[in-house]
Amino acid sequence: MFFLYNNMQKTKLKISPWLFILFLLIVPSSLYTILELNSMDDQEELYEGIYTNQLDAVLFSLNQFADDNVRAWINDIEKLNWTEGSQERNIKEWISNNPQCEHLLLLDHLNNNTSIDDTLLNEIEKEIKLKELEINKLNSYFNEGYRKVLGYDLNLEHYSLFVFIANLNGQLQQCAIVVDARRFISDILSPRMQRIAGENFVLSIRHVSSSEIVFSTLINTIPESVTEEKVIWLLPDYSIGIQPSGPTIKDVAQKRAYNNILFLVIVDLVLLIGAWFFYRNIRREINLAKIKSDFVSNVSHEIRTPLSLISMYAETLQMNRVKEEDKKHKYYGIIYREAQRLSGIVNNILNFSRIESGKRQFNFSPVDINDILNDVMRNYAYQIENKGFKVDVQLGDDIPLIQGDEEAIGESITNLIDNAIKYSKEIRSIEISTQINGDKVWLNVKDYGIGINSKEQKHIFDKFYRVTKGSLALHAKGSGLGLSIVKYIMHSHKGDIIVKSEENNGSTFSLIFPSNNY
Ligand code: ADP
Repeated sequence: MFFLYNNMQKTKLKISPWLFILFLLIVPSSLYTILELNSMDDQEELYEGIYTNQLDAVLFSLNQFADDNVRAWINDIEKLNWTEGSQERNIKEWISNNPQCEHLLLLDHLNNNTSIDDTLLNEIEKEIKLKELEINKLNSYFNEGYRKVLGYDLNLEHYSLFVFIANLNGQLQQCAIVVDARRFISDILSPRMQRIAGENFVLSIRHVSSSEIVFSTLINTIPESVTEEKVIWLLPDYSIGIQPSGPTIKDVAQKRAYNNILFLVIVDLVLLIGAWFFYRNIRREINLAKIKSDFVSNVSHEIRTPLSLISMYAETLQMNRVKEEDKKHKYYGIIYREAQRLSGIVNNILNFSRIESGKRQFNFSPVDINDILNDVMRNYAYQIENKGFKVDVQLGDDIPLIQGDEEAIGESITNLIDNAIKYSKEIRSIEISTQINGDKVWLNVKDYGIGINSKEQKHIFDKFYRVTKGSLALHAKGSGLGLSIVKYIMHSHKGDIIVKSEENNGSTFSLIFPSNNY
C-alpha cells in the first residue's frame, strides 16, 4: 500500500512542484537577468555616445591646431616684402625660419622657380592640374571672406602641398607651400598631442597608405586598438587615432555584463538548490504523513484480528458452549497463539520506539547461536507446524560463542521465521541452519515463498517499507518494522543481515555475526 502510494506520489509530485518552482523562482530571475542586460546595453550606448563625442572633439581640436598653424604661416608670408629683387631672399629667409617647409611657390610663376628640382616640380604640376577646379574655387571663397587652405599629398618623399590664396602686396596670388609631412608632424603636431593626451589617452598618427604608425604619444602603440580615427585635414594620407590608456568602455561594460551574468547564474543556482531542498522536505513531510497513517491502519488491523479471535473464543468458552474437552483445548490453544502474536506485535512496536528514541539497550554476553535457535524453536515449533509448515533445522558444528544479546538475537530469528511463514505460498517448507564461514557465524532462514525482486530488496530493510505488489504481499499483515529492527540489532552486534531472493522462488535471509567479537 505504502509502495503504491509512494509511486503515485512520485509521478504526481515530479511534474507539478518542479514546474511550480520553475515558474515561481527561475523564470522571474531569468527575466530579471534579460531585463538587466538590456538596460545595461542602453546605458552603455549612452556612455559610448558621450565618450565618442569627446574623442571626436579631441581629434577636431588637433586638426584645428594644424590648420591654425598654417594660417599663422600665411600671415607671416603676407607680411613679407614681395617687391621684385628682395622677394627671393625673403622667401629663403622665411623657409630657413620654418624648417618644416621646403619651398614657397607662386602657382602663376611655377616655371620661373630655379630652386626646385624637376621631379618635384613635375609632381606639383600634376597635382595642381588634377585639383584645378578645387583650387580655382579658393579665390571665390577668399572674396567671400573665408580663406581656405587645401592640403595634398605628393607621391614623393614625404612631401605635402598646402595651397591657399594670399594677398601679396595688394595682389591676390595662388600660393603653395611644399611641406615635409613627417617634420610637420614631429615638430608641430606631436608636442601638442603629448599635451592633450596626458595620462588619459594615447594619440597616434598613422600613414594611411602604408598603415605605418609615424608617431605615438606612447611607444609601441598597437594601431588595431585605436578607438577613433580621423584623417588630418591638411595631410590626407595621415590620420590621427585616439584610444584610452586604460580599459575601454566596451571592456568595462563587458566585464560588468560578465560579472552580472555570473552573479545571476549563482543566484539562480542557489535558488534552484534551495527549491530542491524545499521540494525534498515537502515530499518527505508528505511521505511521513502517509507512512504514519499507513502504519496506524496496518498496526490497528494487525491488532484487531488477534483481539477479535481471542475475545470470540474466550466468550465461547466463558459461556460454556463447548462441551468437548479436545475442542476446548483447541480453543485455548488459539487464544494462547493469538495472545502470543499480539505480544509479538506490541514488542516490535515497543522495540522500534526504543530504537528511535535511542533508549534500546543490549546486554551483551557470550552466547551460543545454536542454543538461542533451539530455544526459539522450542517455543515456536508447535505454531509453525500447526500452520502446516515443515521446518528443517541444521545446526552447524563447532560454532564459536559470540558476544551478543540473547533476547535481541532471538527476536531477530523470530522475525525472520515470521516472515518466512507470512510470505510462503504452496510450498510450506522452512530451512534454518547455522554455519561458520571464515571468521563469521551465519544463521540462515530459507523459504520457498513469493520471493522479493532485486529492486525491492534494496528497500525492505528500511523502516515502514512494505512490498505491496502481488496478492499475497498485499494481504499479508505487517507493520514494515520487522526487518528494520533486525538490521538495527545486527548492526549493534557489528554484524549484518543480507538477503538472497528471486521473485516467486523463495528467499534466504542470513544473519551474519563476527565470531571474533567475543
Ligand atoms: P512486514 O511487517 O511487512 O513483514 P518487514 O520489515 O518484516 O515488514 O518486511 C518488509 C517487507 O519485506 C515485507 O513487507 C515483505 O514484502 C518483504 N519480505 C520480508 N520477508 C520476506 C520473505 N521471507 N519473503 C518475501 N518477502 C519478504
